[in-house]
Order: sequence, then structure tokens, then C-alpha cells
Amino acid sequence: MARDYFFSFEKYAYVKGKKPAPCILCLIRDRSPEVVDLSVHRDELFIASVNLYPYNPGHLLIFPTRHIVDVREFTPEEERRLARLTRYLLDLSEVIQRPAGFNLGYNMGSPAGASIEHLHLHLIPRYPNELGIADLIAGKRVLVEDPQETARRIRERIAQVPFSTARS
Ligand SMILES: [Zn+2]
Repeated sequence: MARDYFFSFEKYAYVKGKKPAPCILCLIRDRSPEVVDLSVHRDELFIASVNLYPYNPGHLLIFPTRHIVDVREFTPEEERRLARLTRYLLDLSEVIQRPAGFNLGYNMGSPAGASIEHLHLHLIPRYPNELGIADLIAGKRVLVEDPQETARRIRERIAQVPFSTARS
């Protein structure tokens, strides 16, 4: 009995703090109850999700289902799929958010501003008369829409005009 108790305690300690923090994007991929699921698209290669901390309404993260940390790790198939998915999501955003432009980009490595190691492409709609990109990089944000509401609107649109993973 005492031994069982000891074992359980060790297991508890392991779960609580002796492991490195799990990757939030892998948790989203695995539909973990520990994370808010704001994903709007999932296929076997990529997931697109509304950013929980958007710089602007409609700020999306597009990330591979594989935990990779560098764009040079993409397979040719992933590159093709990502190009098509990016075009699809830009078209979708133009209909839903009606932005005046976009910022698209990766931050690779923490000195470059990556707070999540798992490679992800930011797709940020830009609007007239808002903060400049320097302000965005400095961490200022203007949140005018609940990310849950953004995700709901995007999912609704995707259901009407689905992304095809078939080769085109
Ligand atoms: Zn990951």
C-alpha cells in the first residue's frame, strides 16, 4: 500500500513539473483539453488557427502538423499544400475581414521573436488607419473582435467554400 502511494506521488510530480512544457501547437493538433481550440482548418499536413492573441482581427497561424522548427524542413508536398492553403486563406480573409493588405511571415528562433518553437506562418490582415508594423512588433495590439467570434465566422465561411486537399 505504502509503495503504491509513493509510486503515485512520483507520477504526479512528473506530470506537474519535471517534464518540459509541451508544445502548444502540438496540443492544438492533438485536440488537447488544455488549450483553447481556435482552429478553423485541419488536414493531414496543416492546421490553420485564429491566434489567441491576435495583433489584428483575423490574425491566423498556419502550421504544419509535424513539429518542425525551420522552413528548410518542409517537404515539397508540404510546400505545395502550404502555398495553396495560404492563397485560400487570403481569399477567405478578403471576404470576411476586408483588409487593405496583409503581413505574411515566420519568426524562426527566439531572438527573431518566435515565442513558439513549432514553425508557424503568421497571416495578419492590415487595415487603414491602424498601428504601424513597428508598433505591432513592439507588442502593441488593438483587439476589436473576440478571437472565438473570428474563428466562428471563418469556420462558417470554410463550411460554405471548403478547401480541397486534392492536387490542382
Ligand atoms: Zn509542436
